[in-house]
Amino acid sequence: MMPNDPITIEQLERWDREHVWHAFTQMAEYEPLIIERAQGCRLTDIHGNEYLDGVSSLWCNVHGHRHPRIDAAIRAQLDRVAHTTLLGASNSQTIRLARRLTELAPAGLNHVFYSDSGATAVEVAIKLAFQYWRQCPTPRPEKTCYAALGDAYHGDTLGSVSVGGVARFHQMFGPLLFETVQIPAPDLYRLPPGVTRHGALAYYLERAEQVLAAHHQRLAALVVEPLVQAAAGMLVHPPGYLRGLRELTRRYGVLLIADEVAVGFGRTGKMFACEHEDVAPDLLCLAKGLTGGYLPVAATLATDELWNAFLGSYSESRTFFHGHTYGGNPLGAAAALASLEIFTAEKTLEAVQPKIVRLAEHLARLAQHPHVGDVRQCGLIAGIELVRDRTAQTPYDWAEQRGLAVCRHARGNGVLLRPLGNVVVIMPPLAISLDELDQIALAVEQGIAAATAG
Ligand SMILES: *Cc1c(COP(=O)(O)O)cnc(C)c1O
Repeated sequence: MMPNDPITIEQLERWDREHVWHAFTQMAEYEPLIIERAQGCRLTDIHGNEYLDGVSSLWCNVHGHRHPRIDAAIRAQLDRVAHTTLLGASNSQTIRLARRLTELAPAGLNHVFYSDSGATAVEVAIKLAFQYWRQCPTPRPEKTCYAALGDAYHGDTLGSVSVGGVARFHQMFGPLLFETVQIPAPDLYRLPPGVTRHGALAYYLERAEQVLAAHHQRLAALVVEPLVQAAAGMLVHPPGYLRGLRELTRRYGVLLIADEVAVGFGRTGKMFACEHEDVAPDLLCLAKGLTGGYLPVAATLATDELWNAFLGSYSESRTFFHGHTYGGNPLGAAAALASLEIFTAEKTLEAVQPKIVRLAEHLARLAQHPHVGDVRQCGLIAGIELVRDRTAQTPYDWAEQRGLAVCRHARGNGVLLRPLGNVVVIMPPLAISLDELDQIALAVEQGIAAATAG
């Protein structure tokens, strides 16, 4: 098969079913959706059908597709070099991006370790934390365990699955994972008996403190998705929770790893979610939106304290023996730099504010539906949880795939979405227009009506 051999749509669809093993997809039931091109927030499939991109090509697109600045930056870099290694060498784009990230990130995160996906960014943070405790000025080699939140999602490599907590994805691999201790995830919709919304922050911080108090001697780090646990169903934490975790981890001598893979780069209305609570973590994981959704680049940012623990002569074996072939890829770095420039040139974070307000208006209306149990929003991230019974908060049986039914209906109305079980997700590119946002919300509303009828 040569790239330009003629090929029919039917062949493409058949080969897609037979040869491409799609992520998180039951291939026995897979129906091909083959995207051929895109412009702005609109995707076009091989049949010529147009769709609004309601989930940012899985939470990564920021400024729309085919943004002229990012396209041009990648083309310009192609005329220099496509890839160089970071193993003992460097590239100007890669260097500039590291510098830019340290300028933008919370204070103190001055060092950038590159990899190529969110999972590897977390994997790197886990290993850095582990090695840090062996090499820091007062070594604590017994710190080999990690604290993570219930329902957490940090990616699909074994290290990131170990700190994950989504039973549907992770339970199968239990025997392969290292030990973690779990902190109950703040859930403002299904609060424990006797806990009010008002008392939720104190309650959940107390639960976190119990875990840290019991295990801090052997805890290397606590891993958290700041503000929103995305794959858990867009669970939004009570304000103050992240700051509370930062104070607790300081007090108990445990590193804080912030996984901003989903919430970073403007999704929450600020560049990084940590800014909402003035939190500087010890390690910050970035991926998805880093290149505006163009190329696989990830970064793990670390403090001077972490960095210093790895310095020494080679013979001291303090080196971080970890790397990914495409880490710091210059094409990706050029795309990321262009994406970050657009934030300034187009005042993206200012422009997104009215869209966040408009999304809130839509959610308030959707919340009235008799089968919508809860709506959750943080910035331009929204989750709409469908329930069988609103009063009793009874979920739909997961196997009924109600969320998927909503998305299928929306697709018929020209809006592309992907649910998380019974939670319908709206997470468009920051570049979405108010009109387009209205269209997405309308398609969701009609989809919910259709999927919950009868
Ligand atoms: C998507 C995601 C990851 C994994 O990123 P990949 O690039 O898919 O490996 C990690 N953490 C969070 C919070 C995510 O949403």
